[in-house]
Amino acid sequence: MEIHRAVVARVRPLSATMIRVTLHGGDLAAFTSTGVGDEYVRVFFPHGPDRGDLCLPTPTENGWQTPQGRPAAPMRTYTVRAVRPEPGEIDIDFVLHAHGVAAGWAASARPGDVIGLNAPTGLYRPPADLRRQVLVADLTGLPAIARLLEDTPDHITTRAIIEVPDRSSVQPLPDRPNTTVTWAFGGNGHGPSRLADLVGAAIPPGTEMSGGYVWVAGQTTALRSVRRYLRKDLGLATERFKVVGYWVPDSGAWTERYDALPSAMRSELEALWANTADEPEDLTIAYEERLSGLGL
Ligand SMILES: Cc1cc2nc3c(=O)[nH]c(=O)nc-3n(C[C@H](O)[C@H](O)[C@H](O)COP(=O)(O)OP(=O)(O)OC[C@H]3O[C@@H](n4cnc5c(N)ncnc54)[C@H](O)[C@@H]3O)c2cc1C
Repeated sequence: MEIHRAVVARVRPLSATMIRVTLHGGDLAAFTSTGVGDEYVRVFFPHGPDRGDLCLPTPTENGWQTPQGRPAAPMRTYTVRAVRPEPGEIDIDFVLHAHGVAAGWAASARPGDVIGLNAPTGLYRPPADLRRQVLVADLTGLPAIARLLEDTPDHITTRAIIEVPDRSSVQPLPDRPNTTVTWAFGGNGHGPSRLADLVGAAIPPGTEMSGGYVWVAGQTTALRSVRRYLRKDLGLATERFKVVGYWVPDSGAWTERYDALPSAMRSELEALWANTADEPEDLTIAYEERLSGLGL
């Protein structure tokens, strides 16, 4: 899958905790949107302090390959907030948090900087009978919610709930008919996430979900109970919801703990995915329950 080189055209703060980077030029003319509101790309960043030294991998039969002798470009995942084929621009909205290659790069991004992007993938897939939807996310899912709201047909009823650290992170959202937006404060690495409570309050047990769709994105560990709640407690069919983990708190320590598991345990975890008889959502629930049981 081709990786497109893109150049920063301009940068604009959106709130105390989010910055919009508009990209153009490079190979962006070849970028094709899926048209799905939560479409995301892998973004490749310069590996060191030289912001112009971007070493993009090339696609091979065995995946992406960094040119020999060159350092790998750090890669992160971001939502495509907007695509404008004319004049050939893409917006990406970055959360500014204290750590991280991507957040650090975005905080000091300026026109002329270069990054790489692969082709996008969308996950939001409402059922054909969609009449109402509930969209819930933390800051990282705010760009996707904003684009989903823009794209939602007028006759659909939407409840959007966004958890942001505090009032300084609230942003104007597209003004759409039949839409209610609620801001909740907390989470986002500044405190415990309430995403699970927010979903539970918006869709209490017994809610009738015909014509409904639920899309939730944000802190991965906070979403484990959301996925289980929607699937097991509410008994939703898998086409009625999508839960996507966007980031892991203290991810370095998490990876270290995972890698330190005995290899038999890691094999057992990986083997959980081999059960093709189950729905992927149910496999994910089983996998996540096992991780939680291991303190991960
Ligand atoms: C499909 C998808 C779409 C996404 N879309 C967006 C988007 O549009 N905008 C966006 O900002 N993010 C988005 N994310 C989340 C983003 O990929 C992660 O936050 C990513 O880890 C940021 O990379 P980094 O280099 O800044 O930090 P990393 O190097 O990955 O992490 C460094 C440290 O920062 C912590 N950290 C990472 N992200 C956050 C955060 N948001 N808040 C607090 N601490 C954090 C980690 O726990 C870790 O300890 C998306 C993720 C996915 C999977």
